[in-house]
Amino acid sequence: MKAVLLEKIEAAGVVGAGGAGFPTHVKLNSTPEFLMINAAECEPLLAVDQLLMEHYAPILVDTCNRITKAMSLKRTVIAVKKKYTRAIAALRDAIQCLSGKRHPACELVFLDDVYPAGDEQVAVYDVFSRIVPEGNIPLAVGVVVINIETLFNIAQAWKGTPVTDTWVTIGGNVPQPLTIRLPIGTPIRTAVSLASGDCSPMTHLCLDGGPMTGHLVEDWDEPITKTTKGLILIPRTHYLGLRYLNISRGVTRNAVAICCACLQCTEICPRYLLGHSIEPKRLMVAAAEGLERGAHIFRMAHFCCECGLCDLWACFMNLSPRWLNAKIKREFQQAGEPATPLKTRWNVHPLREARKIPTARLKSKLQIREFDRPARFVETPDIEIRQVRVPLRQHIGVPAAPCVKRGDRVKKGDLLAAPRNGELGARIHSSISGRITAITPQSILVER
Ligand code: SF4
Ligand code: SF4
Repeated sequence: MKAVLLEKIEAAGVVGAGGAGFPTHVKLNSTPEFLMINAAECEPLLAVDQLLMEHYAPILVDTCNRITKAMSLKRTVIAVKKKYTRAIAALRDAIQCLSGKRHPACELVFLDDVYPAGDEQVAVYDVFSRIVPEGNIPLAVGVVVINIETLFNIAQAWKGTPVTDTWVTIGGNVPQPLTIRLPIGTPIRTAVSLASGDCSPMTHLCLDGGPMTGHLVEDWDEPITKTTKGLILIPRTHYLGLRYLNISRGVTRNAVAICCACLQCTEICPRYLLGHSIEPKRLMVAAAEGLERGAHIFRMAHFCCECGLCDLWACFMNLSPRWLNAKIKREFQQAGEPATPLKTRWNVHPLREARKIPTARLKSKLQIREFDRPARFVETPDIEIRQVRVPLRQHIGVPAAPCVKRGDRVKKGDLLAAPRNGELGARIHSSISGRITAITPQSILVER
């Protein structure tokens, strides 16, 4: 049964919808003890997972139980913030209804409303009291983690439906926040227009992701992908907009010299509090002192999850240890340097509980409380998407190789590209019916 499940997931092109897009058939081709469905959705303003739980609880729970049985797991939990009361009610009903009928039951575990409750290593510790070794993945402690939208896509895959759409919250400073299902490859500009009235790049920044971990969209004609979860519009003159502009322009690069070594960033770093070898203050000081990148201390950057707390919450000097860490990590990746642990034992900091950051306070700090409104759930956009540019790489691994040619007619769900034999990657399907009008090394254009 496990082999059938993995085949269906691979055929449907399912990848981790909440992160970097690791191919799910590879992730589940393992022998963990536990499955954790990460339903924390801890980024402020995003609502995809919460609304999917509210609207699709029975198929999510059924799929959860199916995976549990197929993989012979000891325990399966849905880790959800206790404040998502409507989602919890829907899940409870579904669990009660489905328990014992066909499959073993999954259980609910409740998380506090803190940031970053959904960081998978933080969540694994909070749920299972196991520390994932630095530089490693939860499987190292027997846990496989997938998020709610990925679980939804596995449910579709089980029925033979490939991943052609993604769910996106379009929020922030918009008249009508939405959580909407859109064809993969829809231009960000089109997606934004569905909720944003007259927002434009002249007036607003668009963050792909949430306010804490999102990255600035440089070109609003870029397509949404399997991993797009949120498009957050922030006025350019807003506090958060100015912080992001500051970070993206590299102003902080010059400012490392003004780090006063106050330690605030280290004291709230969630990975440091788990006992990992990451101390943003020491990295900033090392950079300010002009140490060579080869210096041992910079290897700490491997263990940063880029949650953004050190810059957007802690640093009153407007510095960005996260930006520095991300840059060093990219350099290491390009040089092929592995994330080798710097120690062999990890002890949770005694003050970890006291240093957790309540999401409500984080929203106040970011000055985004006024943007925190319900994001209406929309299953189908009320405009027809006439053109999609489907990227060939929406996942960890190599780009998929096209298996169509210019001029071909395709239907929604037809295969466009697939990994070559033995390569890590995921299949790519057409998200609308139409004609292939262009193929580049990066993407395939489909027009109705
Ligand atoms: S972004 Fe900052 S706070 Fe978050 S893990 Fe990295 S160093 Fe720690
Ligand atoms: S919070 Fe800012 S000033 Fe303080 S140690 Fe960290 S980077 Fe330096």
